[in-house]
Amino acid sequence: AASSATHKPLALPPQVDIEAFNKFITGIIKLIGAENVDVISSKDQIDDASYMKPTYTHDPHHVLPQDYFLASAVVAPRNVSDVQAIVLAANELSFPLWPISIGRNSGYGGAAPRVSGSLVVNMGKNMNKILEVNVEGAYCLVEPGVTFADMHDYLVKNNLRDKLWIDVPDLGGGSILGNTLERGVGYTPYGDHWMMHSGMEVVLPNGELLRTGMGALPDPKTPKSMGLRPEDQPMNKTAQLFPYGFGPYIDGLFSQSNLGIVTKMGMWLFPNPGGYQSYLITIPKDEDLKQAVDIIRPLRLSMALQNVPTIRHILLDAAVMGSKSEYTSKTEPLNDDELDAIAKKLNLGRWNFYGALYGPEPIRNALWGVIKEAFSAIPGAKFYFPEDVPANSVLHTRDKTLQGIPTYDELKWIDWVPNGAHLFFSPIAKVSGDDAMLQYAVTKKRCKEAGLDFIGTFTVGMREMHHIVCIVFDKKSDEDKKKAHWLIRTLIDDCAANGWGEYRTHLAVMDQIMGTYSWNDNILLKFNELIKNAVDPNGIIAPGKSGVWPRQYNKSEWKL
Ligand code: ADP
Repeated sequence: AASSATHKPLALPPQVDIEAFNKFITGIIKLIGAENVDVISSKDQIDDASYMKPTYTHDPHHVLPQDYFLASAVVAPRNVSDVQAIVLAANELSFPLWPISIGRNSGYGGAAPRVSGSLVVNMGKNMNKILEVNVEGAYCLVEPGVTFADMHDYLVKNNLRDKLWIDVPDLGGGSILGNTLERGVGYTPYGDHWMMHSGMEVVLPNGELLRTGMGALPDPKTPKSMGLRPEDQPMNKTAQLFPYGFGPYIDGLFSQSNLGIVTKMGMWLFPNPGGYQSYLITIPKDEDLKQAVDIIRPLRLSMALQNVPTIRHILLDAAVMGSKSEYTSKTEPLNDDELDAIAKKLNLGRWNFYGALYGPEPIRNALWGVIKEAFSAIPGAKFYFPEDVPANSVLHTRDKTLQGIPTYDELKWIDWVPNGAHLFFSPIAKVSGDDAMLQYAVTKKRCKEAGLDFIGTFTVGMREMHHIVCIVFDKKSDEDKKKAHWLIRTLIDDCAANGWGEYRTHLAVMDQIMGTYSWNDNILLKFNELIKNAVDPNGIIAPGKSGVWPRQYNKSEWKL
């Protein structure tokens, strides 16, 4: 019977046979058009491609076999009612859906689904409108396919950069909505994206449409009687101004979760501060990290440090400027002398602190005085503005990023090794010298054991640091992939043993990390499962996301 099927995907989800798949996908093709449906039926379709040209079939930075997490098909709804129809069809056979917005999600699994054979729902292809940019209120309302770069381009084209900036992550090609749902970060004063979102619209697992926060209040000027579908009705005029609304605050249920498909989101834009100056402070010695972090804490808490600054290890900067073979013929991890030699060559410190000053000149000067004096306590610390450093320096890239101009330069560090791919290991640390040194020591030691260089950065939030360890590996080497996988798994346990957890993760270790958030007999996971099973009784939305499995799946069998 299988041979008579028109569509023969390489992967099918559990409990769905080829006939059922064909019926399901034929229905979807009829609904949204063949041009919006790709069935993944040939190995040729599984192409790692590149950041600039993302594919949606699998994870291009595969740490497991390339096709381990594989879509059966990728579908691109044209509008909210298509999303609702897809959700309803999926409910009929408990077909797993994996919503993405742009699908880059670099270092965290790309567009790949946790459960192979899932239908990847590419929300960004057709639903990519900037619905509003409100200058007075300094916010925007976007659909899933709007990237950081799209928003920046819009501000430039409409001569709005003198009024508003968009906070951008290291790379500009991600979805504003997707990145925010994942609680991603950028580097301006608006770096905590989740904190800066206000109001969302969500298709629930049963197909109903929900608006959160003030969006739950109908806009009185456009009553339903005007004949507009709910999704086409204007948002309440305060939906993008006040995120909480009334009653339980449920926005969090849709972040890093599997309880809905988000179709619109409000995001605050950063008012042009009326002046800007980026800077670099080089910090000479490895152990200076301790003193630097203790200097940073009060400055950040008091907001003398206005933005989300970063303390970058020398190799992260070195890797942006060249691959390992351009510095050394050695393939093993570099030792202290070799790191010092690279730092000397690049005129950088072992650690490099990138920040920015915002506001008119007198404000910037006052803040710079405070910051400079504080960091001068570190022997040998040096201070630079962009005009003081060579053209290929990372400071020129950070100068753009810290004022909301998207770039792609940071892609380069992935090429540190041949056939470079990466995984992010991202534990949270206290902004305390001792904590940072300990976390750095734990991660550095394991990197060395794995035979990989430590490449990392501390991203300083209000009261914590996202320590981002960039695990770079050769994806054509099975041995390298095994090492990278061993490394992240080991680091998760090491860090949990020290009371550190990760803020976000790759598909391959979601279960393990959820397992570390185990206080009081895993009540966090149990509560999430309770909600999951109540809201999504057929278990269709992103089963396994963040380690939350619906009851249809025997999670001990799925554990990786
Ligand atoms: P990027 O912006 O880096 O391209 P993605 O679009 O891949 O990121 O989104 C990252 C993750 O966020 C997805 O894997 C998915 O879990 C979640 N996500 C993205 N868009 C949506 C959406 N519209 N609804 C629900 N979840 C989403």
